[in-house]
Amino acid sequence: MRLILVGPPGAGKGTQAVFLAAHYGIPHISTGDIFRANIKGETELGKLAKSYMDAGNLVPDSVTNEMLKDRLTHSDTAPGFLLDGYPRNVGQAEFLADVLVEKSITLDAVLELAIPNEEIIKRLSGRRTCRNCGASSHVIFDKPKVDGVCDNCGGELYQREDDKEEVVANRLAVYAEQTEPIIAFYRDLGLLKVISAVGEVSEISANAIAALK
Ligand code: AMP
Repeated sequence: MRLILVGPPGAGKGTQAVFLAAHYGIPHISTGDIFRANIKGETELGKLAKSYMDAGNLVPDSVTNEMLKDRLTHSDTAPGFLLDGYPRNVGQAEFLADVLVEKSITLDAVLELAIPNEEIIKRLSGRRTCRNCGASSHVIFDKPKVDGVCDNCGGELYQREDDKEEVVANRLAVYAEQTEPIIAFYRDLGLLKVISAVGEVSEISANAIAALK
């Protein structure tokens, strides 16, 4: 299964990606997670990505594309992969298409998680992320058992710089201008499946599996 998950920030891509990757036995490749790991590790790539990410802008394609291409050379991608947060513009979608041609492989599906803007703002403003494992929770809708502590691993929960209100507005604008056009790109290729990202997590997962059958 070679799959792309697309949807605005806060649609729950990360949560569904973890579920779908486990379900299909494929690696979950999140370019955002790779950047955050590099920021934590204080690598050159992390230093470069941080200013773009903190402002809610896209990291330049020249950097992101090569990072993704390198990740697809790892042997764990042999049975397939799930891309979460990549591609994020038409240039990246075209770059990916070329990489797949080089590898003589094709995509199976692009799953769009659709969600209204009001719901996104509600979700992102309360989202907290674990510094250690990256899992998300929410201060109202998905409270951790102990305030500020990750249920998954006991790590510290924090608010991502780019989940702050002033940055969220820019991320939504970037999504509308740069990322949304890839939906038409994949629809034209006959690969697009759309499901609603509103409702219970388990219900959305079940709808995703049904759409991908
Ligand atoms: P995410 O965790 O997917 O919400 O990504 C967080 C941030 O990482 C984005 O707002 C961008 O700054 C950066 N980023 C992640 N994926 C990409 C990508 N494919 N292209 C450019 N920037 C990206």
